[in-house]
Amino acid sequence: MGVFENLIYVNDKGEVASHIWIKWIHEGTKEANTNAEKQENVLLGETTRHCAKCLNLNGCYFPLDNMPEQPLHPNCHCYKTIIDKPIAGRTAQAVCYIQKIRDYAFVKEAKKKFFNSNGYDIMDSEYIRKTIEDVALKKYVGGDFKLGMLDKHGQRITIRVELPGRTAQGKPLSFCTGWMIYPGGKIVLTTPATELSKK
Ligand SMILES: [Zn+2]
Repeated sequence: MGVFENLIYVNDKGEVASHIWIKWIHEGTKEANTNAEKQENVLLGETTRHCAKCLNLNGCYFPLDNMPEQPLHPNCHCYKTIIDKPIAGRTAQAVCYIQKIRDYAFVKEAKKKFFNSNGYDIMDSEYIRKTIEDVALKKYVGGDFKLGMLDKHGQRITIRVELPGRTAQGKPLSFCTGWMIYPGGKIVLTTPATELSKK
């Protein structure tokens, strides 16, 4: 039980916040804001005594109750600092590139079939992309995500997204999206649609 668990966090409206947010800190190295910089950290992890996982967690935001274990390994010198709860579009952003929808989800047979059979086609790629970004960002800042794989590239999370149904039955489509966490409240989509289901 660390000291943080005992704090009551009150936000600027005087409400007790549902989540305390923290920033993961690995002191003395720079935050990896791009995939190329993540790769540099992977290399640094192989050539120095620094741990690549910790290097790539440096600067990332997590709710205190939904974060990787800290210390992460023996002799881990990382620490955490309390930050203001991230605000969607201001201190948090979600990035889903159109290629992940248009050139991947609508190319992979099972995913294409899933969207097609529910009334969406490749022409809706931008709508789907934007909806995924909006829903995921809201859920990330709400702490409503599942921690996924943590490896030398960083921490992945899974977020469930719903799209309104467009078929006669009108049931929403529900699927999981995979994201990589970057420093400064940024998440970038890695996997557009898994665990496909109709509600
Ligand atoms: Zn560490």
